[in-house]
Amino acid sequence: MKIYIFADMEGISGVSGSSFVTADGAKYALGCKFITRDVNICAQACFDAGADAVTVRDGHGAGTSILWENLIPGVELMQGSAAGVRFPGIEGADAVILLGYHAMAGTPGALLEHTYSSKSIQNIWLNGKLIGEFGLDTLIAGEKGLPVIMTSGCDKLCREAEAFSPEVVTCQVKRSTHQQGCVLLSPADSEKLLREKTFEAIRKFREGRIRPIVVSPAVIRKEYVERMEPAEGLIGSRMTEHKADTVEDAFWGR
Ligand SMILES: [Zn+2]
Repeated sequence: MKIYIFADMEGISGVSGSSFVTADGAKYALGCKFITRDVNICAQACFDAGADAVTVRDGHGAGTSILWENLIPGVELMQGSAAGVRFPGIEGADAVILLGYHAMAGTPGALLEHTYSSKSIQNIWLNGKLIGEFGLDTLIAGEKGLPVIMTSGCDKLCREAEAFSPEVVTCQVKRSTHQQGCVLLSPADSEKLLREKTFEAIRKFREGRIRPIVVSPAVIRKEYVERMEPAEGLIGSRMTEHKADTVEDAFWGR
């Protein structure tokens, strides 16, 4: 059994604001330490629960936040760019974990809420319904025949995930109080919870109780923060629309 862990940074244990997740932020070095810690806890729990391979995608920003030198043995790490592919290195995986995720753009009071880019994207709709990164990534994994078995992050991310995918196991490591604030679990408590939830997710997956989610065809509408130059798929000065058989193709506009 191979598990693919896509690690974002906003929902990682101990991360409480922008300064932890922006490369020039005062707390970024700590953020890098914390994402590596959650990845190691989750990966170790995967191995302990019976996985024989774990691939981790360093998925935040430029994809170079995880401290390679501190990874536990057995983990394979995908870092850096992968244009046009959401899950590079996912071949051969059996299930996906979305670690350290955040609520969709516009979620009131949610820590570091955004959808893919806080600078450029205001909203994304799939087939007329607002959707966040958790939902889109769950569908992109589903198109590869893979279920998303667990996600971790704040309370609002967990509620969004449960509403989208009733079968996913959620791991709430913090409670949002603001876009730039939250109540954090202690390191020991978040470690215990991440281990427990990873075990629960793998058990549920092995029992066939978490299945891939697929939506087709897909119409993706993206509303941008700024006006755009004329381009393919533009349906207003700040909106694009793409239709495809798969969510991943509609997302990339191909
Ligand atoms: Zn991120």
